[in-house]
Amino acid sequence: MITEEEFLRNLSKVKEEIQNSCDQHGRSPSGITLLPVTKNWPIDAVHYCKKNGIGRVGENRVQEAISKMELEQDVRFELIGHLQSNKANQVVGRFSSIQTVDSIKLLNRLNNMAEVSGIMQSILIQVNAGKDPAKYGVSMDDTESILTHALSLSSLKVGGFMTIAPYDPENKSVARTCFANLRCLRDRMVERFGFTFSELSMGMSGDLDEAIAEGSTMIRVGSALFGQRKQVL
Ligand SMILES: *Cc1c(COP(=O)(O)O)cnc(C)c1O
Repeated sequence: MITEEEFLRNLSKVKEEIQNSCDQHGRSPSGITLLPVTKNWPIDAVHYCKKNGIGRVGENRVQEAISKMELEQDVRFELIGHLQSNKANQVVGRFSSIQTVDSIKLLNRLNNMAEVSGIMQSILIQVNAGKDPAKYGVSMDDTESILTHALSLSSLKVGGFMTIAPYDPENKSVARTCFANLRCLRDRMVERFGFTFSELSMGMSGDLDEAIAEGSTMIRVGSALFGQRKQVL
């Protein structure tokens, strides 16, 4: 695990990257939330964020995240990894947002749990906007019907959409097309339903410039802040 000094250097670099992208694409950094991804790192990663004014982090695995929540209660955790519907009961009320909702079954279970707990659970709909067979997420074609269902559920609040671009570092236009797809889809859904769906969670360490160019409001950054993870997930 890196030291806090190294983390701070990385954080400055990432912020500079965000600023440069914003300058280039006519956006303001105030419209972009940096969500540090602390998966596969010890609790220190979460503490570094907290100590330096970042109050929310992303985690992939339910169990790992819950262990960290017990050690750091003043940080909000967002779930960015795939969620099996049989684990819905473990996440509702614990994660401030569940970014990876991609089925009717999962929507129903989350809504039931939220209702029982008497809370509104924030979620994002994960869309496979890069049409990558290796990725989870609702297809672009199915998004409208999933959203229709999600909006009928009284204990879930749909803040917007999330996507993970296909991995193709040699050809950045693949990621950019994926992000453009999601933004256009969001705009269509705004027209269709009359809600704002303001959150577009898209972009990671390797493709944040493309994501910012296409309107991302949240970039999820792991390795650029904490270094390469030992395990590839
Ligand atoms: C791991 C992960 C990230 C962060 O990836 P980096 O390339 O390390 O920045 C972002 N989003 C999701 C869904 C992830 O699983």
